[in-house]
Formats: sequence, C-alpha cells, structure tokens
Amino acid sequence: MSTSPAASTAPFLPLTRPTIDEETIAGVADVLRSGWITSGPKVKELEAKLFDYFGGRPVRVFNSGTCTMEIALRIAGVGPGDEVITTPLSWVATSNVILEVGARPVFVDIDPVTRNIDLEKIEPAITAKTRALLPVDLAGFPVDRDRLYAIARQHKLRVIEDAAQSFGSTWGGRRIGSFGDFVSFSFHPNKNITTIEGGCLVLNDEREAKLAEQYRLQGVVRSGFDGMEVEVVGGKFNLTDVAARVGLGQLPHIDAFNAKRAELVRAYFELLSAPAIAALGLGLPPQDFSGSNWHMFQVVLPDDQLTIKRADVMAQMHASGIGTGVHYPAIHLFAVYRRLGWKEGDFPFAEKVCRNILTLPLFPAMTRDDVRRVVEALVRILEANAKNERHS
Ligand SMILES: *Cc1c(COP(=O)(O)O)cnc(C)c1O
Repeated sequence: MSTSPAASTAPFLPLTRPTIDEETIAGVADVLRSGWITSGPKVKELEAKLFDYFGGRPVRVFNSGTCTMEIALRIAGVGPGDEVITTPLSWVATSNVILEVGARPVFVDIDPVTRNIDLEKIEPAITAKTRALLPVDLAGFPVDRDRLYAIARQHKLRVIEDAAQSFGSTWGGRRIGSFGDFVSFSFHPNKNITTIEGGCLVLNDEREAKLAEQYRLQGVVRSGFDGMEVEVVGGKFNLTDVAARVGLGQLPHIDAFNAKRAELVRAYFELLSAPAIAALGLGLPPQDFSGSNWHMFQVVLPDDQLTIKRADVMAQMHASGIGTGVHYPAIHLFAVYRRLGWKEGDFPFAEKVCRNILTLPLFPAMTRDDVRRVVEALVRILEANAKNERHS
C-alpha cells in the first residue's frame, strides 16, 4: 500500500458536501416557474412534514438556524438583565443570539469526553437572573435530556435546545425535537439536511407558534382583505418556497443519509483503532451508534506530542487533497467576548479541545475508500511530526 502523498491524482475530498437528487432539482425549477417563489405553499408543506416528523409538535421554518434561537429567546421573554447558560464550544451563533436579545451568556465548561456542556457545572452557575439553558448537541451527539430537563424543571428555567447539528439524533429512543421545550434546527448546507440556508423551530403550542410567525415577519398579523396589525417588533426571517422545496426533497432521505454517516464513522473507528495508530494519542469521540446522527467526525490532536500545530496539519491534509475543518474556536476568546470580560483559562477543557479539535470529511456521498485515504494521510502526517521518533 502506497503511503506517498499521491493523492494528487484523486479528486479533492471536501470536508462535507450536500447530496441533492435530480428530482429535487427539477422540483426547484417547477417552483421557479410557478409564479410564487417566496414563502407560500411549499413552506406550508414543509412545515406539515416536519410537524409529522416531530410527532405532532408545532414547528415553523425560518431562513436560518440562528434566528430560530433568537426568536425562541424572545418568545421566552428573555431580555436585558437576564442570564442564559450555554457552552463555549459551539458555532458563535449560539451565544450571539443571547447578546442579540440583550441578555448575558453565562458559559460553563464542557465535558471533555462528550465535548458538550458539562451538566454537572450548570447548577453552580445558576443565579437569580438565570432564565434559560441553551445547550448544543455538538456533532450530533445529544446532551443528556433527562438530566437537562430535571435541572430546568427544578429551577424553573426555559430550555432552547441548539439542535442545529442533531436533526435525526435520538435520546432514549425518542427523536430530538419530538419532546422538550424549544428545539432549534439548522438547514445550512453543511448540516445533515439542507434548505440551502434555513432552519426550523419546534414550539410547545399554537400560541407560541403564532408568536414565532409574527417575529418571523415584521410582527405583522393580517385579517380579512385589508386588516393589518403589528404587535411585536419582528424581523425578516421567512424561508422562501424555493428553499422549502429543497428541504422537501431532503427530508425523505434523512434516515438513509444518517445511516450512511454512521457506516462511514464505523470505518473511521475501525481504522483508527489499529494499535500503532491508537498509540498516536488522537482523541476520539464517544462511539455512540444509538443516539447520534453523526453530523461530524472530530478528532482531537495530541498537541503535546506533535512538533507542528493544527494549522500545519490542516495545510498538509489539504496538500494531500483532503479538506478538514475546525468546529470550533472557543467562543469566549473571540474579541467581542473578551471585551465582555472572558479570558484564557476560564474554561480549560473547552480551551484545550478547541485548540486541537479537527473535523475530518464526513458526508453521505463519501466511500469507505475515502475514509481510508483520510486516515492514511492523517497518520502519515502525525507520524512524520511526532516529538519522539517512533520505532516500529
Ligand atoms: C449551524 C449552526 C447554527 C446556526 O445555523 P445557521 O442556519 O447557519 O444560522 C447554530 N448553532 C450550531 C451549533 C450550528 O452548528
């Protein structure tokens, strides 16, 4: 087996890529020809399908999985003077929305094994100002919902689940989104299903759903032929019918997409568990084949054993024809958050993982050979740059 950097002949393997079938592409063309291209019948149809998917809970679609969380916070009445407990290891949207509504994020450190918020650290962070919990299912690995909701109930807190990455994940055999408080999903192209840009929010009742519709479009409520009222300051967050048609073509494939992801992840684990490779000290995610939708496969580089930094590893992977990603830098160390008082050392587990985490390619159209190519390239790079020369 060749271990030379011979990937130059193989096509570049991206970090991720959406799978959109020809039927969906034709359906999008139909919408474009129909004369109605913004929010309309396709949005209603997608919402009806999602309503069924989430076991009959109210759900509304939006043009991002960011505004969904902002709107959930508004519906929950979270605003200036309030605190929301969240994780420093997420896409920055997770905590930006808290600032957006005028509240203060309160970060607590992660559990280095699950890489999700450490539920044991939530209660000590609760104050009289705490209004909500905003956990994230990183890479699709679900936060313990039993423990989460036990804490929320005991302290009378709302929960906004940032389930942007966990569409199709389950907890205790139940689909994420089919239970709980507010549950927010993203349909960004990198997520397990896409509407190009978009997202949806699962709500508790029709009153909340009506409010969500108002926040979605300028607060407007129409009645009769000419009646219009505005009772809340809403924004411009509606999904187009073109985008909704993409989502309608994605939804029937979600189980197959996620099954394929799991199959590829099994191949990753299999190849990475070879003794010589395990000795490299790569951090692996928990092997969860019952709850996770395997939105991402992320390793943590053994920085103390390497002579090069993550960026060099990424550059060398790229030179080998393989895309990698960082999900994510620690939120509290971004300039906006440093200005609000956070600093290095505040959340040691998150900081260490964030410095060294590396997302490897994973998407339904990948093959087992692609996985092998990724692992071979990564192992070659790590071995060539190990601090102590290895003898085999
Ligand atoms: C993608 C993502 C979001 C935001 O979704 P958009 O649709 O891009 O606005 C929020 N949180 C997490 C954890 C995400 O991965």
